Amino acid sequence: MSELIINVSDILRVSGAKKAFEQNCEFRPLHNKEKLNFSSPVHFKFSIENIGNQLFVRGKVSGTLRLTCCRCLRIFDIEEEVLLDEVFLPANIFKEVEESFKIINNKIDLRPAIEQSFLLCLPIKSICDENCKGLCPRCGKNLNDDYCDCPKNEIDLRFLKLKRIKEELEKREE
Ligand SMILES: [Zn+2]
Ligand SMILES: [Zn+2]
Repeated sequence: MSELIINVSDILRVSGAKKAFEQNCEFRPLHNKEKLNFSSPVHFKFSIENIGNQLFVRGKVSGTLRLTCCRCLRIFDIEEEVLLDEVFLPANIFKEVEESFKIINNKIDLRPAIEQSFLLCLPIKSICDENCKGLCPRCGKNLNDDYCDCPKNEIDLRFLKLKRIKEELEKREE
């Protein structure tokens, strides 16, 4: 069983009961495996509190995410930290509340909540460095490490058209 599926039977029936955890743990995402790839175990620090019929989970998770730069395809790591602030409802009482995390068989599974939080903090485009020069579109060389002799000032076809129109106009004026 994953360390992130937590047995809460000891605090489930006592309002106000609380327990805290701090640990390092391997984290394998349930769904977004291609997006969330951790290069080392993640660090968890959180508490679970019984707030009467439901559990309030609050804490921090930090980890090193391995991403691929969308400009140069280099693999790089970034440190991320997310805050957890979730309520878990007993599945047998709140059957109809689809959108919430559930307590099932005296256990709560923190993985979907953690996964969701990390996904929300991911950049839309992962870039290894804001000055990343990317790959040469012609020869494919990584321009951060190397330079190439490919012509850089390729004239955009649209500009070529404008240039011709301009030349035409100039000719007429003569
Ligand atoms: Zn890059
Ligand atoms: Zn090139």
